Amino acid sequence: MELVTRIIRNRLAAFGAVMLLLILIVSLLTPVFGLTDPNVIDTSNRFMLPFGEGHLLGADHLGRDILSRLLWGTRLSLMVGVAAAIIAATAGSLIGILAGYYGGRLDMILMRSIDVLMAFPYILLALAIVAVLGPSLMNALIAVAIVNIPFFARNVRGATLAIAQSDYIAAAKLSGRNTFSLLLFELMPNLISVIVVAFSTTVGWMILETAGLSFLGLGSQPPQSDLGSMLGEGRAALITHPHTSLIPGIMIFAIVMGINLLGDGIRDALDPRLAKGALRRALPITKIDRDLPLPRTEERGLLSVSGLKTDFQIAGKTTKAIRDVSFHIGRGECLALVGESGSGKSVTALSLTGLVASPPAVITGGKILFEGTDLLSLKFEQMREYRGKRIAYVFQDPNSSLHPLHNICDQLIESIKVHDGSMGRRALEAKAVQLLKDVRIASPERVMKSYPHELSGGMRQRIGIAIALANDPELIIADEPTTALDVTVQAQILHILKRLQRERGLALLFISHDMNVVAQISDRIAVMYAGQIVEAGSTKAVLEKPRHPYTKALLDCLPQLGKGQAMPRAINGSPPLLEDLPDGCAFAPRCSFVTPACQKRPIDVNLIGGRSLRCIRMELDDG
Ligand code: ADP
Ligand code: MG
Repeated sequence: MELVTRIIRNRLAAFGAVMLLLILIVSLLTPVFGLTDPNVIDTSNRFMLPFGEGHLLGADHLGRDILSRLLWGTRLSLMVGVAAAIIAATAGSLIGILAGYYGGRLDMILMRSIDVLMAFPYILLALAIVAVLGPSLMNALIAVAIVNIPFFARNVRGATLAIAQSDYIAAAKLSGRNTFSLLLFELMPNLISVIVVAFSTTVGWMILETAGLSFLGLGSQPPQSDLGSMLGEGRAALITHPHTSLIPGIMIFAIVMGINLLGDGIRDALDPRLAKGALRRALPITKIDRDLPLPRTEERGLLSVSGLKTDFQIAGKTTKAIRDVSFHIGRGECLALVGESGSGKSVTALSLTGLVASPPAVITGGKILFEGTDLLSLKFEQMREYRGKRIAYVFQDPNSSLHPLHNICDQLIESIKVHDGSMGRRALEAKAVQLLKDVRIASPERVMKSYPHELSGGMRQRIGIAIALANDPELIIADEPTTALDVTVQAQILHILKRLQRERGLALLFISHDMNVVAQISDRIAVMYAGQIVEAGSTKAVLEKPRHPYTKALLDCLPQLGKGQAMPRAINGSPPLLEDLPDGCAFAPRCSFVTPACQKRPIDVNLIGGRSLRCIRMELDDG
């Protein structure tokens, strides 16, 4: 149902659907219209113009009624085209599923045969097939179906390959299901959309191709006629009596256009990512549309962020992911950004160098001073000087942050070369080895030659850090660098980061949802909730004396060693929807100290000493 509304909302697709529906209804009802026989010849009416007596659309070169011939012809063309498409879809999908699911030799044989079919231009192939079988509408249908099989087979094979390797298929196999039920109930439902899309985008072509064969006299044979043969017969009188060919021509055009518009609509509607605009190409730098006047930012240390706001604008709805975030990081300092997942940590980090994908992201406010330069006022070319060179990132998932097809050596060298093209190969390699040593990799020469899949997660994350270090950045942003690792490896990675930070005087923005990890590495902590920093201060002070009810609750969630089997407490409720934030404090609905005043208006930040707090209930006295 939702699918139908999505198709209807797409105006072109709706137009195509309406046009097609009209044509379908008319051609279905053709037998009950009581039209004159399309094959009755009456030479006295030769080439009668439209709106002539007894012939609404005129008559052709044999005086046959064009309206009747048009409707019967449309019926025939539609039936043949759709039948060809169904045959091609069935045969092609079957080949695709078998090849994709069983792989190996069967895949080889089937796909190479398909390749042979594809090696010929397909109109030529269709002509050859009809030439062998002999001209008739049935043979044209078979020819068109055959030449379209490869299209379905390849699409379906690709989709099958991907699905056959997924874990839920493995789980279904483990549960002892037989292959047939596996194919039918697990694989098929996922392939339906691929097949439907392929079908809806090709059926128009197939109607056109059959019409083409009939036009050449290889399809329908007189007296039977479809749109193609009507066009072919009318061609001789194109100049003198254009209506005999124009009328079937317009009908073919209307059918094919209707099908294609609808087909594109179905394809877009079946892909939820397209509905969200995810496949639109992102701008190279996040779109910036800041409220004026800009906040006056006092510069503190290396990076001072004030009043940062980032929205996601999707289909007319605005999600306020970052709302008025301010923090600063001094040289050689480590600031930890903590919060539940979805609180806006990554978006904050990516906003700093304009890496949030636009569309849908827009930075709507704030200032980001890096050594006195407002990063948000930079053009893309200028921003490149900062990205990766002065501000580097380490990402959460070491599996996806390295390129699977290049070895470690190439990846390290590339990241050095992008910003410094002057070094020779020898020097580059030496520097790469040194980088690996810096992140405590014991046998750098061997690792240099390895590919990412040959290394463990911890090793890969070290390489991620080495790549971040490649250009001696001043600030490293580590977005949950240890979340995907187990605890012992996590400790090693934290050590490496801490040591690098100390030795090189690096500033570190360390993002995590784990208070324990944060306590080990950071100098200061900023706690995020629903796109705002609710409390910030020195790590020691915040952990010893949390002020904000949310920080307290987060700390209460930690299991305490030596406290027997006491279960850690959980925070009631769930984070608010960012599209629908309450007027007042976003944490109020889950807060055990809530008062009516908390929910009236936005809560400002209180600053005393080194501590900032976004709460009106808690005092900031001796923090
Ligand atoms: P986390 O704190 O877990 O890193 P994020 O910063 O990734 O959270 O996300 C913050 C919020 O921003 C999420 O709740 C999500 O709704 C929204 N968001 C993030 N990326 C996108 C995106 N590409 N499109 C739409 N919304 C997004
Ligand atoms: Mg994140």
